[in-house]
Amino acid sequence: MKPHPCIECGVELEAAEDICPGCGHQAPPPNVRLAFDEGLELLAREARARAAVAEELRPVLDRLSTLVASASVVVNVDPAFAHQVITRDRTQQVSYHALLAAGARRPAAHANDRQRTVVDALLFGSVGPQIGYAALSARAGLRSYGLVTLHLKLGSLERRTSLLEENAYDFIRRHGVTDRSPPPRGYRAPLCGRVALATAKLAGRLRTDPTDDELADLLLHSGADRAADDFIEAHIWGPLHRSAVEAVTVTEAVTIPIDRVHLSEAHRVATSELNIRWNGYPS
Ligand SMILES: [Zn+2]
Repeated sequence: MKPHPCIECGVELEAAEDICPGCGHQAPPPNVRLAFDEGLELLAREARARAAVAEELRPVLDRLSTLVASASVVVNVDPAFAHQVITRDRTQQVSYHALLAAGARRPAAHANDRQRTVVDALLFGSVGPQIGYAALSARAGLRSYGLVTLHLKLGSLERRTSLLEENAYDFIRRHGVTDRSPPPRGYRAPLCGRVALATAKLAGRLRTDPTDDELADLLLHSGADRAADDFIEAHIWGPLHRSAVEAVTVTEAVTIPIDRVHLSEAHRVATSELNIRWNGYPS
C-alpha cells in the first residue's frame, strides 16, 4: 500500500494505524484505506467488464447498477444476538475475535478458528480482529449465518466499511494468497465504489430479461450452506450500535420458544421505541 500521509501533520501512517502517531488525528480506518488504495485497479477491471457486455445486455447492466446502488449492508444473526443489539443501548462487537476477547462467545471448532484467524491476518494484518463481516444485499442476507437479517444504514457505515468481491475464505483460496503472496489488487472497494465492484464481478454473468429477484440473487445468493453462498462481502471497522439498524427481516416462521421470546421483545422495542422497520415474523 502506498504511504498515506496524515492530512493534519503529514506523518506517513502505516496500513494498520488509524490514529496518527504524530498528532492523534483519526484517519479513515485501515480497511477503508486499503480499499481506496486499489481504486485504479478496480476501475480498470470495471472498464474491461463493462466493455465486454453485449449490446442487448446493456439495459440489464443498468438495472443491476441501480439495484446495487440502492442495496444495503446486511448482517445475519441469530434471534438472541438480534435481541441483544436492539434492546440494549450499548455498542456491540460483531467481529469473531472481538467477541472472543470480550468473553462474549466461545471459540469455533479448531479448524474454523484457525481459518478465521489466518484469513483476517492475510487480508488486514494485525487489525484483522477489529473487522466485522457482513454482506451487500438488495433483500435479506445469508441464512447460513442466522435467520435474522439486520439491514444497516449506509450513513453509519460509509466511513468505516469496505467491500471484497467474494467471501474472504474463497478469495484467499482462489487467488492463492499466502503470507508471501499478497492479495491481488482491484477486488476491494470502499462502500461508495460498490457499483464498480459489482460490475467487475457480475457483468460477465448477465442474462437477458432477468426478474428483479434473479438480479438480487446474482448480487447475493443465500445457499443451503456457507459453501453455496455467493455474495460481495462487507468489512466493517469497529462495533455496531442499534442506531445503525435501519430495518430487520425475518423471512421464516420461528418455532423454537426462546427464539420467539427474543424476537417478540426485539420487535416490540424496534417498532415502538426505535422506529426500525420490521419485515416478516412476528409482524
Ligand atoms: Zn498527524
